[in-house]
Amino acid sequence: MSSERAAGTRSGDDPLLRVDGLTKHFRDGGGFLGGVSLNVGDDGPLVSRETESVRAVDDVSFEIREGETLGLVGESGCGKSTLARAILRLIEPTDGSIYFRGEDVAEMDTEELRAQRKNMQIIFQDPQSSLDPRMKVGPIIEEPMKAHGMYDKEGREERARELLEKVGLDPQHYNRYPHAFSGGQRQRVNLARALSVNPDFIVCDEPTSALDVSIQAQVLNTMRELQAEFGLTYLFIAHDLSVIRHISDRVAVMYLGKLVELADKEELFENPQHPYTKALLDSIPVPDPRASGTRGVLEGDVPSPIDPPSGCRFRTRCPELIAPRGRLDPSADPADPAYEVTYDFSETEWRNVREFVRAVDRHTFDPAGERELRQQFFADAEPTGAAGRVVDEAVSLVLEDAWDEAAELLVSSFSDQSICALSDPQYVVEPEHGDGPHYAACHLHREA
Ligand code: SF4
Repeated sequence: MSSERAAGTRSGDDPLLRVDGLTKHFRDGGGFLGGVSLNVGDDGPLVSRETESVRAVDDVSFEIREGETLGLVGESGCGKSTLARAILRLIEPTDGSIYFRGEDVAEMDTEELRAQRKNMQIIFQDPQSSLDPRMKVGPIIEEPMKAHGMYDKEGREERARELLEKVGLDPQHYNRYPHAFSGGQRQRVNLARALSVNPDFIVCDEPTSALDVSIQAQVLNTMRELQAEFGLTYLFIAHDLSVIRHISDRVAVMYLGKLVELADKEELFENPQHPYTKALLDSIPVPDPRASGTRGVLEGDVPSPIDPPSGCRFRTRCPELIAPRGRLDPSADPADPAYEVTYDFSETEWRNVREFVRAVDRHTFDPAGERELRQQFFADAEPTGAAGRVVDEAVSLVLEDAWDEAAELLVSSFSDQSICALSDPQYVVEPEHGDGPHYAACHLHREA
């Protein structure tokens, strides 16, 4: 992606921020990772494999135009917060560029970066821990102004009081301590502090996740009003799609360190093109009391970012994995025509095989016998030829209770041979809503 135009961008626009091929890998599983919320499972791969590289963010590219809000969504641990911190260089990127008003933040020295930080602020999720309990809120709001040598003492106090009012608090609260405020009010104090230095760009890292739903809406509305008044640009991170829908102009979806989809808000919600985005949308709770909670859930675990799947990172959970055309048979002589095996699946056969592979891989059924097993998975269509022989062998292994061997055979013969495993998808598709570009990292669009 880094050599191409950033995902989902309009040619001709002058972005405020352009992120190009941004990558962040961690080499050490020590305490430094504690704050970046990496989903590496409970079995502690970071502890036992300290020297391995955790690929938290991989080759991410996008742009944000002045005055817009780009929503960034994905499951916990997908790399959203790491990406945000790398953009602001709160952590050092491993690779890539971050152009802010055309200047590469990744190349700035300490002094240039300090000056630039005035323009690029961040608000964190937990309003409690980001406010020093020993300081009154007035001085808390003044701190960034002081650090950047803005105004004299009176000027800073005047601005702090003015900002308290702008964010919906009473200027008289200047002398109160953070503990005297509710969660929503504390997040408003954080907002005032971020605004104090007149930034152009604010990264909002799950700023309303810790708040009650009714308070969330109020804070979001205040943020929108402030955006209009001060001409702010937001990168708004959330795992809650309803919050993203409320606040964003465009939406980017992240999965396991990669950007998988980016489009205008309406286009993304009404015409999602990536199976992961569709699964996320299907997981939104349904307000209808007669419906049963959610419409669908994502199956399987997120793989470890230490050793992510090749090609499309979503492929181990994707319900639409594309049928492989064939494979090479390592047991045959390369000169032998049998070395290259060709599969010839009908759509139904492949759907059944795909279900069977997943069920064996996750050991989700208990076969009573061969007839029942074939009835369960291949009642309407069973592959023949080379694919059929693999299925037959896997069925025998399952019936012998050799689940791991069966799973390995199926995955290596089918899943690992799909284009989804062999190449990293990057496509731009025709939007149905609006005229903004629609980026979808899915091989289902390879004809686009
Ligand atoms: S590239 Fe393949 S595995 Fe990835 S989302 Fe598309 S269909 Fe699914």
